[in-house]
Amino acid sequence: MSWDALYSSAFDKVRGNIGKVGGVLLAYNTNIDAIKYLDSADLERRIGDIGKGEVLRYSEELPEKITSLEHLFGGILWSVRHGKAAELFVESCRVRFYMKRWGWDELRMGGQVGIMANLLGGVYGVPVIAHVPQLSRLQAELFKDGPIYVPKAEDGKLMLVHPKDFAGDEENCVHYIYEFPRGFRVFDFEAPRENRFIGSADDYNPNVYIRPEFRDYFGEIASKARLAIISGLQALTKENYGEPLEILRGHLETLNKRDIPVHLEFAFTPDETVRKALVEVLGMFHSVGLNEVELASIMDVLGEKALAEKLLSHDPVDPITVTEAMLKLAEKTGVKRIHFHTYGYYLALTEYRGDFVRDALLFAALAAAAKAKLGDVGRIDDVAKAMDVPVNERAKPVGEALVKEYSMKKGVAEVNSYQLAFVPTKIVARPRSTVGIGDTISSSAFVGEFALL
Ligand code: ADP
Repeated sequence: MSWDALYSSAFDKVRGNIGKVGGVLLAYNTNIDAIKYLDSADLERRIGDIGKGEVLRYSEELPEKITSLEHLFGGILWSVRHGKAAELFVESCRVRFYMKRWGWDELRMGGQVGIMANLLGGVYGVPVIAHVPQLSRLQAELFKDGPIYVPKAEDGKLMLVHPKDFAGDEENCVHYIYEFPRGFRVFDFEAPRENRFIGSADDYNPNVYIRPEFRDYFGEIASKARLAIISGLQALTKENYGEPLEILRGHLETLNKRDIPVHLEFAFTPDETVRKALVEVLGMFHSVGLNEVELASIMDVLGEKALAEKLLSHDPVDPITVTEAMLKLAEKTGVKRIHFHTYGYYLALTEYRGDFVRDALLFAALAAAAKAKLGDVGRIDDVAKAMDVPVNERAKPVGEALVKEYSMKKGVAEVNSYQLAFVPTKIVARPRSTVGIGDTISSSAFVGEFALL
């Protein structure tokens, strides 16, 4: 069977069974992304108004957080000069108000929970219960229609309502995203590539604030779920991770007692203490999703420096090195499933066996390609619109290496006492959007697997 035939049959199978999956609990991060496309005349005028000298100073060395307009504009210039992304916390209310009045071109759902809720609930029709740290009117409007619920406590009783019916009027957690294209010019600087600078006017998500409903009624909330996905722990630091991690442990214990498989979406976590702490609780998770940078950063804290370096030194990433790293992680932590994704291919190492693991990866790759191709996927049937995107040629040597090393057949092999599944992905040459594509991949594959069981 060709990869295209496998793709097509995987999609049909998941499409036919996804309605039977049951409720998915999503926690913890949801926010509002406010996107502004930078205009150089406007930017130069604003910087001129506050004084160019001081701003330029911060464009050389990024400040730790934003407490002044000089920091804000210095940060933006730093991103433009280097063509690199940066995200800083905005502490000053004066700067927050300035950013609000400067405005945005587009509002989008932000945070992994928000993005996955709209995909799973709004597109796939899978019921989800989402943790939304703050539900403002603006935040509520960004949720799609469909079986998306948030817990609401009233008179000591818990109800599940659509975010639009929550009527909470809580704070706005806004991540201001300043985007620029490659070649964008401001003063004497020219952006070597397209990128973005983010100023987070958000006191909740960076600290993984957990709502009272999720502290007081977690058992009841968990009783309505069949699966869970945890994300948003990446912004924690050694200063603030103690309490949220304690609550997370409690949540995991409750979910484990109920035999609810939990997936951790492991986004890049710069703080090493937090990264170590996450690896320590990984055994309480069924599954983890990560890319090459994230896997390398975990190998780093496990003391596997050579493996970490090797992971980042090949393009495309060497699949044998990835497999070695995944085996180390699985053996060390006891996590039952590791889903690795990189540009061009995905791998899944599982304690259990079956073609459905590979088929779920194929469904996820089709969903990712549909997102890249269409920008927004409106219905699950839109996922099939990516069938005509060609299977990535770069993945050919990757597949051949796996056949040679592990005698892989049709993307499935036996490695030590685990199963290794591989799929070459479909890559869209000129993507409409890749924001949140990692979340699309991980949640589609995890939930897809249970649709196929
Ligand atoms: P993000 O945080 O932006 O979601 P990730 O590294 O988690 O980043 O996810 C990016 C993944 O998206 C890559 O590993 C790759 O598999 C996939 N991807 C990126 N660009 C494309 C594209 N043009 N077409 C299909 N898949 C893509």
